[in-house]
Amino acid sequence: MRTVPSWPIPAVPSVAGNGGGPIRVFDSASGRVQDTVTPDGIATLYVCGITPYDATHLGHAATYLAFDTLGRAWRDAGLEVRYAQNITDVDDPLLERAAKTGRDWQEIATSQTDLFRSDMAALRVLPPDAYVRVQDSIAETGEAIAQLIDAGLAYRVAVASDAAPAAVTELGDVYYDVAAAETASSWTMGDVSGYTPAEMEAAFLEFGGDPDREGKHGPFDPLLWRSARDGEPAFESAVGLGRPGWHIECSVIATRTLGAPISVQGGGRDLRFPHHELSAAHAISLTSADSNGSAADFARAYAHAGLIAYDGTKMSKSLGNLVLVSRLTADGVDPMAIRLAMLSHHYRSDWEWTDAELERSSERLSAWRERARRSIAGAAPSEQSSFVTRMRAAIAEDLNTPAVVEIVDEWVQAPPAAGDGDVIRLVDALLGVSLTSE
Ligand code: ZN
Repeated sequence: MRTVPSWPIPAVPSVAGNGGGPIRVFDSASGRVQDTVTPDGIATLYVCGITPYDATHLGHAATYLAFDTLGRAWRDAGLEVRYAQNITDVDDPLLERAAKTGRDWQEIATSQTDLFRSDMAALRVLPPDAYVRVQDSIAETGEAIAQLIDAGLAYRVAVASDAAPAAVTELGDVYYDVAAAETASSWTMGDVSGYTPAEMEAAFLEFGGDPDREGKHGPFDPLLWRSARDGEPAFESAVGLGRPGWHIECSVIATRTLGAPISVQGGGRDLRFPHHELSAAHAISLTSADSNGSAADFARAYAHAGLIAYDGTKMSKSLGNLVLVSRLTADGVDPMAIRLAMLSHHYRSDWEWTDAELERSSERLSAWRERARRSIAGAAPSEQSSFVTRMRAAIAEDLNTPAVVEIVDEWVQAPPAAGDGDVIRLVDALLGVSLTSE
């Protein structure tokens, strides 16, 4: 498994005097806000990456910004942060896009990943330490699937003979046996997502499950390995020629790059089920030696960012209502204003992007920068500014960036003071918004 280049690291100022209080987030598995678990001062974060077939829209950007805030809060609290992210560069939407446009799938993946990198750099998002493409993790994923078959937690399903090479038809695809995994561990379906059976069924259908496929043991059993089909890319592995399913790739990349359990598994709320549920289940099956294996063996918290609407409905490619980061910046919008607009909403809330929203945050950014210019430069703070203490307390409680934004608004109204330098640096460190450059 190798990592590919991510994007440049923005400067993060350090501000003295953090009390080091724990950073808390809402965990879907426990259903409450809880302290993040960071043993030996090391915080580990895995955030599911993009499927690079289309440009980054604000919905994606908001998710990466949410977990960027977590990483920044951890760093400010004095922790070492280890961050991994995947690139789902071998997947149906990408291959469908290639077939539809006549372009090479690799070329689409490369160009769209590059665009994502430049969007993240413009937004000053801290890059992952390990940035791993699915096509670079095939060997490890194949071995993991073979291990699941050997443990009786995965099985083969026949492939129709007209769809694939003869050798593949004999082998078949591989599915994860949910019922067997539930028996072999203390995890049961719904533990990670906190979803009810009805919610799980609806989400499984919405996000591409195949409950009716003949030969499956259970309707929710997810695909682990799709054996080679005519006209599709395929890779050699311990379980034959083909390509991995979506959930197993994240289990393998996360545990191989960060170990287990990790502090936080993050992603958009549309990944809460089935994706995070099942990638956690796979990881539990792979790493827990006894039947006590549970959700906490993969991640100590499962955190999800809300969804952004535009024109009255969820932003999505299929609906054509996308606002692209790259288009806004090409139009001359300051990326810090985009950042500030998103941070004015709590990461878990669903909200609607509007032009007025962007206008408001542009004005706010100007006011903050004007206040920074009027600040008392270079003066050593006689004592820690109370604004600093309050900003840190707000971020520590489930990353309450709207509260931090309000505190900075208050500071803007306050007269210049000796502690201004720390406030300016902390706005940069926690919110990633630089007030000293334009
Ligand atoms: Zn994932």
